[in-house]
Amino acid sequence: MSDIIQLLPDHVANQIAAGEVVQRPASVVKELLENAIDANATDIKLIIKEAGKILIQVIDNGKGMSQTDARLSFERHATSKIKKAEDLFNLHTKGFRGEALASIAAIAHVDLKTKQAATDLGTYIKIEGSTIISQENTATSNGTSIAVKNLFYNIPARRNFLKSNTIETRHIVNEFQRVALAHPQISFTFYHNENEIYNLISSNLRQRIVAILGKKTNEKLVPIKEVTDVVEINGFVTKPEFAKKKRGEQFFFVNDRFIKNAYLNHAVTSAFESLLSGGYYPTYFLFLKVPTKSIDINIHPTKTEIKFDDEKTLYAILRSTIKHSLGQYNVAPVLDFERSASFDTPYGYKDKKSTTPRVQVDPNFNPFKSEEQRSIQFPYKREKTAQWESLYTGLDIQNIEVESETVNTSLFSEEKPNSKTYQIHNKYIVSSIKSGIVYINQHLAHQRVLYEEFLENITVKEAMSQQLLFPLEISFSKSDISLIKEIKEDLESVGFLFDSILDDTIVVKGIPVNITESQITIIIEQLLEDIKNDIPDASFSQLDIMAKSLAKSLAIKTGSKLDLKEQEELVNKLFSCKQPDLSPFGKTTFVTINIDEIDKKFNNY
Ligand code: ADP
Ligand code: MG
Repeated sequence: MSDIIQLLPDHVANQIAAGEVVQRPASVVKELLENAIDANATDIKLIIKEAGKILIQVIDNGKGMSQTDARLSFERHATSKIKKAEDLFNLHTKGFRGEALASIAAIAHVDLKTKQAATDLGTYIKIEGSTIISQENTATSNGTSIAVKNLFYNIPARRNFLKSNTIETRHIVNEFQRVALAHPQISFTFYHNENEIYNLISSNLRQRIVAILGKKTNEKLVPIKEVTDVVEINGFVTKPEFAKKKRGEQFFFVNDRFIKNAYLNHAVTSAFESLLSGGYYPTYFLFLKVPTKSIDINIHPTKTEIKFDDEKTLYAILRSTIKHSLGQYNVAPVLDFERSASFDTPYGYKDKKSTTPRVQVDPNFNPFKSEEQRSIQFPYKREKTAQWESLYTGLDIQNIEVESETVNTSLFSEEKPNSKTYQIHNKYIVSSIKSGIVYINQHLAHQRVLYEEFLENITVKEAMSQQLLFPLEISFSKSDISLIKEIKEDLESVGFLFDSILDDTIVVKGIPVNITESQITIIIEQLLEDIKNDIPDASFSQLDIMAKSLAKSLAIKTGSKLDLKEQEELVNKLFSCKQPDLSPFGKTTFVTINIDEIDKKFNNY
């Protein structure tokens, strides 16, 4: 039989390698930014269009490439960063595999312009699917510009697999933030569809953190510093009272490379142990410097995982350093010498505190409702049969285990409704129904009610809003602001009104009727977190996530005492819902117990 093994052509091998290196537009962003940093750039621009699906361009002022290097850079295993195997254990650059450009060029249209300071003319190379289309001399500035267009144009399956623009942009923002945090001395700008997302000037770490995550972050930071033989630790954690419900903002950098490491994360969390209540996560930005010999970065192609020689010692040092700093902070406010003067409030504004006047607002007040309607807490649009018959209707729809004879008659006796509910343990509402008893979980039931109301508002597109007496200023990070801009219409459709949305602040002038002023910040934060973390796929579900998030935040909590009227109202509303039996998150909202079952307990048969 003849031989059957042959070497794959380069472009095929490159495409296969690309599968490992480039999962999504954000992977390209990471590789290009890292190349710019390795080229010692001090100023880096990132430009993307349509979440990177149309264009990802990185322009740097780094050392550039010679004509030959420019051409070679697209070859597989072409790197200037290591020469021999031993170099792997002494890495001072981000890249070293020499795979990124070859992979990217295999699955996109790439335009490279590059020039070294010593030469007058630069090089311009066009390459598509590993094929060089043209190479010529060109006038260009010092440094390198790489434009990656139409990613995955030749792998439709991968292209179709990409998520919505919101999600892909989020991944890109994450990569950008990691790189920008690791290199505060480098200035970065980031444009998406011609909008400036970030414009970060060269600064120190604290300023960089604040520039990325919003000015309210500044007061929250506790500096961390420790130098030992094995590791040098620098950075910040946030004060325990600012811990978040989600673990969004946790950054570890080892030798300026962003990494994920569950073990070290545990060290940090455990340093906070008694200071945080369950379900809260500290925010941190920690920079570890370790000897290059003591780590192995080689174990993962996308390189967010690394292996340490002596993790146990690192764990102990990290934990005690953070504990120590938190302890100091608890005793006395930490003197922060890193704080730079430029950060302080400009003179003229020093005395203008931007605190919001505390105004007592009636959360139930709704200017759009007539007097008698105001006692009802939630906006209503649908004609509701919100009477006790509706309970019957609701149960009927659900076809719950009620014997078929009783389904066609009223489930309820003739007694007055408000004598029929009872709250137990500030948690369940109990009511008698004709076939027995119903137990309703107040929190979950209210989630269902609010969820449907929000969805209805969203679809009706004329939400009920209460005007704030004084517009409320809330600051957010730039990336959160761009997310808010994206979902602005949706927010308006549930009742938020914005006076303005600035670079790092939003000014809210109206809020949904069922929210109180003091809840706004936390609700919007929660909403953003949910959108960032929860998004399953298509953009249509964004409204759904929003409705769920708001319902979750606003539902009556377990432990709240409800008076008879509130109980009755909740029960009424629940059973006029389209799907009363489940919370928006799929949990059972009520259970029924048949009279037969009760009879059985008494052996009354
Ligand atoms: P690696 O970064 O692992 O070496 P890449 O494929 O990312 O591999 O890049 C290949 C080579 O191209 C690099 O080693 C570097 O010499 C050169 N290069 C890539 N990007 C730049 C840039 N922005 N400026 C200067 N040189 C670059
Ligand atoms: Mg590289």
